[in-house]
Amino acid sequence: MKRVILSFDYEIYFDGKNNYEALLRNTEQILEIASVNGVRLVFFIDIAYLVRLKSTGQDEPFNLISNQILRMKADGHELQYHYHPHWVNAVYNKHENTWKFDQTEYAFSDMVEKYGIEKAKEDFTEIYKFFIELTNYKSNAFRAGGLAINSHQTDFIQTLMDNGFKYDSSVMPGMKMKGRYISIDHSKSINKEIWKFDQDSGFFKLSSGIKSEMTEIPILTIDSNKIDVLHRIVASVRYRLFHFLAPKRKQYLGGTFDHGIVESNFPTSITFDGSGKADIIIMKHFTKEAIKQGKQLLCILSHPKSFQKESFYLFEAYIKWIKSKKSFSIIGYKDIS
Ligand SMILES: [Zn+2]
Repeated sequence: MKRVILSFDYEIYFDGKNNYEALLRNTEQILEIASVNGVRLVFFIDIAYLVRLKSTGQDEPFNLISNQILRMKADGHELQYHYHPHWVNAVYNKHENTWKFDQTEYAFSDMVEKYGIEKAKEDFTEIYKFFIELTNYKSNAFRAGGLAINSHQTDFIQTLMDNGFKYDSSVMPGMKMKGRYISIDHSKSINKEIWKFDQDSGFFKLSSGIKSEMTEIPILTIDSNKIDVLHRIVASVRYRLFHFLAPKRKQYLGGTFDHGIVESNFPTSITFDGSGKADIIIMKHFTKEAIKQGKQLLCILSHPKSFQKESFYLFEAYIKWIKSKKSFSIIGYKDIS
């Protein structure tokens, strides 16, 4: 059985704008499509944002977002923990309706460096507690904000274990980003569909011992060099043809959180973010190729905030395609044992 996890990071952009309306609107439509097609999704909730909405007295967005999260739960979707530490000390400007972030507080490791492990761990745990109280739901999987994890983070792995997490899903094999404030390097990661890790191995290597309690389910990346030339050409021609007939894909740009990126490498992956209709060809092509490359478990990452009009079409077409295949199933982290 081939398994697909459709994961969404539920959050707003890092551009300082408090644009939760687009998040609510796009998520509403995603939930509608999921409901009509009877599929279960996974939402990694950026709960620290919600905590800050509450502590800055923004009742309306707080209530709207909370209700949407509760609807996800009622609809049977999985709620998982997504943690962006830059919210912890974010400053809200009421008159401009904007947020100011401290860019040196981007990753969990930044918080450890600045405030010590005890404080970093306390923030992580407090925010997760807020999530459990709000939703009456416990996560079993974690995704780091901005995928900001690095190889050896004993403290971080311990924090995850202490909070009862069994899965991490923050690794994107081959990804690398270097900037003024960030240094995220997953290029040394193994590229498997799933692996056990521990504090000695770090996130990126298979645990050698029997003591591993954590499992990594990385975000799917595909080695495009391993794709058969003929298949590449056929997919490319079909894509171009479709692309010619359908609207053009918009480049996914993310927010404008200026890290002064000097070096970046995003490996071949698939996502519904900023898609055009023709991307259905790419999604099917990469799904098949990933299976050929030995992956029976595929974790796809998307963001409701980055859905374009065409993304909804693509999302529905893709889940219909997966559902039409008897050997495929759409699952969550709670289905894995
Ligand atoms: Zn995020």
